[in-house]
Order: sequence, then C-alpha cells, then structure tokens
Amino acid sequence: MPANIIDGRAAAQRVRAEVARDVERLVSETARRPGLATILVGDDPASEIYVRNKRRVSQEVGIADHHRELSAHATQAEVAGVIDECNEDDAVSGILLQLPVPEGLDGAGLTSRIAPAKDVDGLTPVSAGRLLQNASGLRPCTPLGILDLLDSHGVSLEGADVAVVGRSNLVGRPVAMLLQHRNATVTMCHSRTRDLPGVCARADVLIAAVGVPRLIGPEYVKPGATVIDVGINRTEDGLVGDVDFEPVSERAGLITPVPGGVGPMTPAMLLRNTVQAARVQIAG
Ligand code: NAP
Repeated sequence: MPANIIDGRAAAQRVRAEVARDVERLVSETARRPGLATILVGDDPASEIYVRNKRRVSQEVGIADHHRELSAHATQAEVAGVIDECNEDDAVSGILLQLPVPEGLDGAGLTSRIAPAKDVDGLTPVSAGRLLQNASGLRPCTPLGILDLLDSHGVSLEGADVAVVGRSNLVGRPVAMLLQHRNATVTMCHSRTRDLPGVCARADVLIAAVGVPRLIGPEYVKPGATVIDVGINRTEDGLVGDVDFEPVSERAGLITPVPGGVGPMTPAMLLRNTVQAARVQIAG
C-alpha cells in the first residue's frame, strides 16, 4: 500500500497561523512587538531569495522587520559591528545571519557573536551546548520543523529506532539530539557508515539529511516506516530530495515529499523561535 504523504505546506500554514495569534497576544499583553533582524552580506542570488522569503513570512505574521544589508566587500569588523548593534537593540528579538557569508569572512565566528537569547537560528555554540544538555534555549529551525511534522502526524518516538543520515551542525546532529531527548534510540549515519542500507532498514523513523539526490532507495526502508526527506537537490529533473520518492513511497508508511515536505517548515519555525525569544526577553 502506498505511504501517506505528509503535507509540509499545510503544516507550515498551521504554524504561521499559530504564530500570528501568538504575536497579537504578545502585543496586546505587553505592548511590545517581536522583531527579526535578517542580516544579508553580499549578493548571492540564492541567499537573497531565502532572506526575502523569511522577511515576507515574518511580516505576514506581524513580526517587525529590522533587515540589514552589507556589501560583498564588508569586512569582518563591519559585519560584527552590525551584529553587535542588533544584540543591543531592544526592538530586535531575533537575529538571523544568512549563511554562507562571502569568501574572506568567518561565518562561524560571526554566528558565535549573536547573543544566545536572540539566536533564532539556534546555531551558536551556546545554543548547541544547551541543546546537548537538554537545557532551555533556542533550537535550530529545520530540526524543529521535523519534530513538528512527526508529532502532528502521531509518530511515536518513545523507544523508537531512528536512523539519521547526515551529521551536519545544521540538521543531522541537532535533530538526533532532539530525538534522543524524546527517548528515541538514535543511530547517526554518515559517509563512512558501514552497511548504510542495513542500518537504515532497521529504523522505525528514517531521516535523510545528506545532499545526495535519491540516495535512499526502498532497500533502505523498513516496511511501514516513517521517512523524512530533508534533502534539497537541484538536478536536471528539477528539485529532488535525498530519497527516491516513488519506490520508497510504495514501502514506507508515511513520507515527506520534496518539494512540499520539510522545506516549508524551516521558515515557519524561525517565526516561532522569534516569538519565543521575544517572550523570554520581555519576561527577563
Ligand atoms: P552537509 O553539511 O553537506 O552534510 C551532509 C552529511 O551527509 C554529512 O554528514 C556527510 O557525511 C553525509 N553524507 C554525504 N554523502 C553521504 C553518503 N553517500 N552516505 C551517507 N552519508 C553521506 O549537509 P546539510 O547542510 O545537513 O544538508 C543536507 C541536505 O539537506 C542538503 O540537500 C540541503 O540542501 C538540505 N537542507 C534542507 C533544509 C530544509 O529546510 N529542508 C535545511 C538545511 C539543509 P560526513 O560527515 O561523513 O561527510
């Protein structure tokens, strides 16, 4: 029987509606509006599109726009100075430095400069450490989106065998950590994993965050398993995921498509993080 398909666009719309209500509640309770500072350095076309999209969705839910733009020739000190200004600005609840930054700048160093309370991408070392320790803090957006999709589709995580393919700081590592905190038994796989299909085929939940088009075929999937495809790969056939969707959907129980699965959840979770950050700052 073909798998049920997870509709990430509908889920993201639900999250945006929830966030819009939260924003209005916060404004009526505190007279303070959450604000997001997106920082774009240079003129990379893909980054420009991502930032434009994030600004648009945040304005739609009532989050104030504090966008900052620097030229591709900006120095490390100039970008650091803008981050410091945003750290100090009470109207800015969340800061997002769009990565990658132009060559010659140290993106990781700049990210570390973001105040942890405003780290709505959840990528600073402090946020990563808090996640490791299961302490309160802001979590990375794509992993949060994956958790939301699993929860909203009733996927049981307690004691479940989960395989995560990919160990990036952006997706693989943080999603594995969030799942461990939910009492899943997580196996982290990567390019040196021996017998990747065998390891994946034991999983109740399989998460692919690799960046290799259609790597995950049906032989990687336990019948009835939940398959979450994080991959976004531009190929001659258009946008495809890390999962070979057609044959895998004949075997899985539940599956995300590409596009329209995990992708729309990432900006939605950025909005949720921005409101969460604003609440904590106002309470603090
Ligand atoms: P990344 O930093 O390039 O990491 C890729 C990971 O995959 C690495 O850990 C690598 O292993 C592993 N890997 C590579 N080839 C492999 C193979 N043949 N077998 C097993 N593991 C392999 O990637 P990322 O930033 O996490 O992104 C992964 C994918 O998700 C990309 O397609 C990206 O565009 C997409 N993405 C989507 C969203 C979204 O919102 N939907 C957000 C972020 C990323 P090693 O560590 O051993 O090198």
